[in-house]
Amino acid sequence: MIASKLDRAAKFRKLQEIYLAELPGKIDQMRRQWEVAQDDNSASDAFGKLQKSTHNLAGSAGTFGYTSVTNIARVLEALIGQIESVGQCTQKTVDTISELIEEIGVLAQQPPQDMSIAFATPSVDKNSGSGARGQLVYIVEDDALLAKEICDQLMRYGYDVEIYAGTTELASALKNQVPAAMLIDLNLSEGRLSGSGFISSNMSLLKDIPVLFISSQDDWDARLSVARAGNSAYLTKPLDFNELLDRLELLTVGQNEDPYRVLLVDDDPVLAEHHALILAEAGMETKIVARMSELLPVISSFHPDLILMDIFMPECSGLEAAKVIRQKSELLSIPIVFLSTEANLKTQRDVLELGGDAFLKKPISQAHLLSSVATRVSRFRKLRSQMQQDALTGLFNHATIKVRLTSEVDRALRKNSPLVFAMLDIDHFKKVNDQYGHPAGDAVIKSISRLLKKRLRKSDVVGRYGGEEFAVVLPETTVHEAKKILDNLRQQFSEIIHGQGVSTFSCTFSGGIASVSSFGDAATLVDAADRALYKAKDSGRNRICEYDEKL
Ligand code: GH3
Ligand code: MG
Ligand code: MG
Repeated sequence: MIASKLDRAAKFRKLQEIYLAELPGKIDQMRRQWEVAQDDNSASDAFGKLQKSTHNLAGSAGTFGYTSVTNIARVLEALIGQIESVGQCTQKTVDTISELIEEIGVLAQQPPQDMSIAFATPSVDKNSGSGARGQLVYIVEDDALLAKEICDQLMRYGYDVEIYAGTTELASALKNQVPAAMLIDLNLSEGRLSGSGFISSNMSLLKDIPVLFISSQDDWDARLSVARAGNSAYLTKPLDFNELLDRLELLTVGQNEDPYRVLLVDDDPVLAEHHALILAEAGMETKIVARMSELLPVISSFHPDLILMDIFMPECSGLEAAKVIRQKSELLSIPIVFLSTEANLKTQRDVLELGGDAFLKKPISQAHLLSSVATRVSRFRKLRSQMQQDALTGLFNHATIKVRLTSEVDRALRKNSPLVFAMLDIDHFKKVNDQYGHPAGDAVIKSISRLLKKRLRKSDVVGRYGGEEFAVVLPETTVHEAKKILDNLRQQFSEIIHGQGVSTFSCTFSGGIASVSSFGDAATLVDAADRALYKAKDSGRNRICEYDEKL
């Protein structure tokens, strides 16, 4: 039974590959048809062809993992269907059609969506709770010393690790629990290419988890055997731990993703609950707003990834509410999906022109609701992370950490709960650059970022404030607790060995902390933490200092 399921999966992947290869050509053709249709009003033929291509695309893209393409193509098809000739349309409609075609082009360049996302049951790791965000990693290595070394490194960054010396123990462990990722030696003591051999013949046990192969060999045979075994990553010995950690993080990144957050704005409580339930069953977090006075505060505390908006409401229309939301620059790109029984094309067009992402007609099927929401959230999160993240470390950038600090401070004051802000700065970092080179310095910056990300709680907010300076917001945390947490991190960081071969070294950082109970707004809080950091530097570095009035 497993084999036939795999066969089907393999066939599907093959078809998907073919579809993927043809997709850019199809979209180019639509662009050309649209150009011809605009150039020559009498060429109603081109317009008809465009309508047909759009229809075909809408019908096929979703099947191959491009639900968002299907959704946009549907809107485009409906729009084109209402127009008899291009000469008749307003400039706005012409622009909207062009934009939609371009949007399809952009969406089609992204990798196809994992077909299980939209309909998956809640993710296992809904809330991994406090402390390290433990992800289990298996190390399969017959060289016990190397296994121990890798294990120590991974544990430092908060991974849970189990070591196996051979494939027999591994096989029985896999039957009990499948890890988040696995590192396996290519040539175990059982024989040449025994690592990749085991993986190739036990795909069903592995359930698609990423496998990183480690090998002292770098020849064609070895690499081919790994390619045939699924090919997540190939690392050669001596291991570069930074590369290892980077690959591991990249390969497991989706696994720890926060649940999607959807805000429903609807005056009809029964319907809102019904939609919320469908989304919640797919693992999303939801919140319902019925009164408009609550809308903006809830958005700023809940941080939704998408807003599902009813159109007809007693206090104001959904379109008006959307306009108010878009007045806030940080909410310009949040997807807003309108839900209504309204089938009027004029309203649909207004929605699109307003930057509303889509228009869904009630009643809407579960599958359609889920896929519409899931594809948009996934796209929004990708775009948002590009805008908000620092490129080197993947932490929030300077601008974003400040926005997040402000909203966390507001929330703490409202709820009268504790919050600590910390500024961290690597000690004598200039010397690292001078002695070991800029790339080694970058690796240190990445390593502290990784440590902060992995070791802090999910509710903590971490950003790269500047070059080798980091900002951490610790909500629901007292000064005493924050000091303990950061001292721990400081200790852990000082034990990390950087560099390679003969030129290895270690680093420390200093930190300053300040509490929201003493400073009621973000700007003074930052200033206070900064002063406390200076004190830490002045009094010898490698320590965490609290702000006190004498500073
Ligand atoms: P202190 O203990 O007082 O903080 O000393 P320091 O040498 O760490 O502080 P200083 O602010 O004098 O120097 C920081 C150095 O960090 C200077 C700058 O070249 C380097 N730096 C800033 N951003 C980056 C980066 O992205 N990569 C690398 N490799 N170095 C960076
Ligand atoms: Mg420094
Ligand atoms: Mg500095």
